[in-house]
Amino acid sequence: MKFCPNCGAQVDENAVVCVKCGVALRNQPQSLNVDNRWLVTVLLCFFLGALGIHRFYVGKTGTGIVQLLTGGGCGVWAIIDFIMILTGNFTDAEGNPIKSNM
Ligand SMILES: [Zn+2]
Repeated sequence: MKFCPNCGAQVDENAVVCVKCGVALRNQPQSLNVDNRWLVTVLLCFFLGALGIHRFYVGKTGTGIVQLLTGGGCGVWAIIDFIMILTGNFTDAEGNPIKSNM
């Protein structure tokens, strides 16, 4: 048995929806999200780094706009970000590191 993260009701191990509050239940959503998020951030920075799209994606809207207006700091800033993401030193708006599980 496991518990609903929304209302705390006991739900079946294989249940996809909480029968009490109707919230969707997923198995290990966190590690999956972090893994995908890193990959998406890498791809966004590689293809659209000069537009700061990867910063918008992780919630850093303020610096994303600056990056968009400066063309990724003439490309240099985007390259630094790309290296930071690859090495796992890039963080989202809440300060959580965006890392690969690979
Ligand atoms: Zn519930």
